[in-house]
Amino acid sequence: MLRRLLTQTSSRRLLSSKTPFFSKPSLSPFSSLPSSPDPPSSASSHVEESGSSAAAGTTISVDRSGLFNPPDHSHEPTPDSELVKHLKSVIKFRGGPISVAEYMEEVLTNPRSGYYMNRDVFGAQGDFITSPEVSQMFGEMIGVWTVCLWEQMGKPERVNLIELGPGRGTLMVDLLRGTSKFRNFTESLHIHLVECSPALQKLQHQNLKCTDESSSEKKAISSPAGTPVHWHATLEEVPSGVPTIIIAHEFYDALPVHQFQKSPRGWCEKMVDVGEDSQFRFVLSPQPTPAALYLVKRCTWATPEEKEKLEHVEISPKSMDLTQEIAKRIGSDGGGALIIDYGKDGIISDSLQAIREHKFVNILDDPGSADLSAYVDFPSIKHSAEEASENVSVHGPMTQSQFLGSLGINFRVDALLQNCDDEQAESLRSGYWRLVGDGEAPFWEGPDEQTPIGMGERYLAMAIVNRNQGTPAPFQSLPCLRSEYLLKGRMYGFEALTFNIHGGYLEAIVRGHRAGLLTTADYNNLCQCENLDDIKMHLSATKYGSYLQNEPSPLHTTTIVEKCTLKLVDDYKHMLCQATEPMSTFLEYIRYGHMIDNVVLIVTGTLHERDVQELIEKCHPLGMFDSIATLAVAQNMRELYRLVLVDTPLAPYFSECLTSEDLDDMNIEIMRNTLYKAYLEDFYKFCQKLGGATSEIMSDLLAFEADRRAVNITINSIGTELTREDRKKLYSNFGLLYPYGHEELAICEDIDQVRGVMEKYPPYQAIFSKMSYGESQMLDKAFYEEEVRRLCLAFEQQFHYGVFFAYMRLREQEIRNLMWISECVAQNQKSRIHDSVVYMF
Ligand code: SAH
Repeated sequence: MLRRLLTQTSSRRLLSSKTPFFSKPSLSPFSSLPSSPDPPSSASSHVEESGSSAAAGTTISVDRSGLFNPPDHSHEPTPDSELVKHLKSVIKFRGGPISVAEYMEEVLTNPRSGYYMNRDVFGAQGDFITSPEVSQMFGEMIGVWTVCLWEQMGKPERVNLIELGPGRGTLMVDLLRGTSKFRNFTESLHIHLVECSPALQKLQHQNLKCTDESSSEKKAISSPAGTPVHWHATLEEVPSGVPTIIIAHEFYDALPVHQFQKSPRGWCEKMVDVGEDSQFRFVLSPQPTPAALYLVKRCTWATPEEKEKLEHVEISPKSMDLTQEIAKRIGSDGGGALIIDYGKDGIISDSLQAIREHKFVNILDDPGSADLSAYVDFPSIKHSAEEASENVSVHGPMTQSQFLGSLGINFRVDALLQNCDDEQAESLRSGYWRLVGDGEAPFWEGPDEQTPIGMGERYLAMAIVNRNQGTPAPFQSLPCLRSEYLLKGRMYGFEALTFNIHGGYLEAIVRGHRAGLLTTADYNNLCQCENLDDIKMHLSATKYGSYLQNEPSPLHTTTIVEKCTLKLVDDYKHMLCQATEPMSTFLEYIRYGHMIDNVVLIVTGTLHERDVQELIEKCHPLGMFDSIATLAVAQNMRELYRLVLVDTPLAPYFSECLTSEDLDDMNIEIMRNTLYKAYLEDFYKFCQKLGGATSEIMSDLLAFEADRRAVNITINSIGTELTREDRKKLYSNFGLLYPYGHEELAICEDIDQVRGVMEKYPPYQAIFSKMSYGESQMLDKAFYEEEVRRLCLAFEQQFHYGVFFAYMRLREQEIRNLMWISECVAQNQKSRIHDSVVYMF
C-alpha cells in the first residue's frame, strides 16, 4: 500500500501524560482542499485483448511512484500456491477473465488464503505500517474527534462505536485509553469491530485485553473500562437502531476496485486472465461489463475538465455500496462516520498497487503474499452518502495534517514531550511528523534512511454525520491552527493542554463575549437612528441594554460612551477575577496603556490648571489607580515618578523619562511616548516568555501597534523641534519597521516621505495606498481597519491569551464606533457616519 509507510518501521512507544489529552477542537474552515495528484504512470505492462492471442497494442499504465526497487516479477516457474490455483480455477470455470476487483477481493479476503486472513501483516516484520502503529497520538486524536461528536449527539447513554478494518486494534486501544477520563462517554460505548480476518480478530481481542463472555465467542469485555466488544464480518451484521459512530481508517483502500481504460472501442474494463505461459496477465474486456454502470454513475459526478482528461478510471462499487449503508445508518440512527485514507479529492485514474515487505511489487506476482490497495475516491464517497440519505451531511475531505492539527495534536505532542526521556522524545517527534508533516522532516538529524516522511498531506479525512449533529469538529468554518505552522514542523503551543486547565474556561467566556460584538447589521440599524434615544432603543437588545435602560432622555453621547465603557470594565474585571497566573499578569498588561494615558491626562491638565476632579472624570476607568488624584501635585518628573511608583506598575517605565526635569507640553508628549515605548517592549518580552501560540500571535499584534505608533510619532513630530535622534528614540525596538524602517522614518520631513517608507513594507502597502498624496486624515481609519482585521484573526486560533487582548481592543473599537455614530446622529451629520466607523464582522 503506497499510502502506508514503506520503509519506516515503527518506533512506537506508549507514553502517558499526567495532563488529560482531551483538548477542545478548533473551529476550522477548510474550504479549498488540496488534492494529492495521481501518481505518475512511469511504467507500463502489456495488455492483450481477451479471447485473442494477438497483442491489442494497448498499454496499461501502472503506478510505480515512490518505488524503491523495480517490481520483482519472477518468471521462474514456481509451484502454484493454493490461492493461485483457486484464482486459475475461477478463471477457467468462468470461461474467461475476471475483473481486477474480483481478483483483488480474492487476493485480500479469500477465506482460506487471502492476504489478510491468516496473519499479522503490520509493522516492521510485516509488509507495511499504518498511522495508529506509528504513534499513539493518532488513536488519541481520533478519540478527541469521537468524544466531540458524542457531545454533539447530546451525550447519548448508549452508542455503537464501530470500527471498520481495525488491523491490530491499536487505534481502538489508544482511543479508549485517551478517552478514559470521560467516564460518561466510555460507559456509553458498545464496540463493534468489523473484521474479516480471524487472525486479526484474535489479535484485536488480545490487544484490547478482552475476556470472553461465555455466551458467545464473538462478544467479549475489554478491560479496564469493561467495554463490551463484538466482532462481525460485515457492517450489515452490526445491529442498528442505536446512535452510531463509525471509524474507517485505511479500510476503504482495501476495498476492490474495477479499472477501466479508454480504447478505440470506447471504455473497456481491465481484466485478469491466465496466459499461455500459465502466468496471470491483464487483458481488456471485449464487451461492456456490469461494472460499467458504476463507471457511468461515477462520471456523472466528475467535472467536465476531469472527464476531458480521462484515459483510465478506477471505481470502487464496494466503496459506494458501503458508503450508502453507512449513510443510511447514520441518517436513521444518528451519529457520524469518520473516513481517513490515502486518496484524492477527485476521480482516480490508475492507482492499484501491491506491497510486500515494505516494497512495491507487481500486482499479479504471487497473489496473496502482498498487500493490494488503491487510492480512495473521496468525491464518490461524498456523492454516494448524499444520494443514500437526506438526513446526512458530508464534510471534507481535508488533509490529515489539517484534521489532526485542528483537533490539537500539537498540544498533545507537547504534553507527552514534557514527560519522557530523550529516546521517547525522538520517537514522538518523528511520529508527529509522519502524521502531520509533508515529505521529509526538516528537523531530522539522524541517519538519512530513517528520515521521517510525512503523510499529513496525502491522507485525507472526511466525515458523514446526521444533520441533527450540526457540523462535526474540526470541519467548522474557522481555522484554528494554521497549517503552515504544522508544515514548518514547528511544534509550537508548548503551553499545551494545561492551557485548558488554567485558561480554558476564560477562553470560552471570551469567545462567547466575542459573539456579542455588534455586527454590520447592528451598525446598519444604528445608522438609521434619528436621535440618541433611538440609538438607546437599538442597543437595548444588545449586551449594553441593561447599562443604558435607566438613563433618562434626552441622552448625550458622553452617557452612551460612559455606560458602554462601564460594561467593558465590568467584563474585564470579571475576567481578571477568574484568572490565575500568568494570565492575570497578561490581563493587567492590557490596561497599562490606559494608565499611561491617564497619567498624561492628569499631568497635562494640571499644567493647564484644570480642576483635578474634572480631569479624573475624563480618565479611562481601565487605567484607574487609587492615588491618581495625587498626581496633580507633581511639579516635575522626579516627583511624578515617586507618586506613580507608589501605586502603579508603571514605575520602571519612568526611569527613561527622568532625563528631563521639566514638565512642559512637549516634554509631556515625549514622556507619553517614552512610557508607551517602554510598556510595549516590556509587554512584548512578557509574551515572548509565555511562548507558544500566545507569543506568536501577540508578537504580530504588538509589532503592528509598535509600527503604527512609530508612524504616528513621525507624522506628529514633522515640523516640531524634536530632533531626528530624539524622534528615533521614541520608536519601540521591535516590529516590522525595526531597525531599518526606523532609520528611514526618523529623517522623514513630510507625509509623502513617510508614505514612501511605508510602501516598502508589503503589509502596510494597502493602508498607505488608500491615502491620496499629501493627506493623512484617512490614515487613522485605515490603521484601525487593519488592526481590526488582525484582531479578528486572533480568534481563529485556540489556546492563547491573544484572544483577551483582541477582545478588549475590539470592544474599544466598538465604543469608538458608537461614539462616532452618536455624534453624527446628534449633530445631524449622518452622511459622515461611514467616515470613521470600522466594521468588524
Ligand atoms: N485500520 C487498521 C488496519 C488497516 S488494514 C490500521 O489503520 O492499522 C485493513 C483492515 O481491514 C485489516 O484489518 C483487514 O483485515 C480489514 N479488511 C480488509 N478488507 C475487509 C473486508 N472486506 N471486510 C472486513 N474487513 C476487511
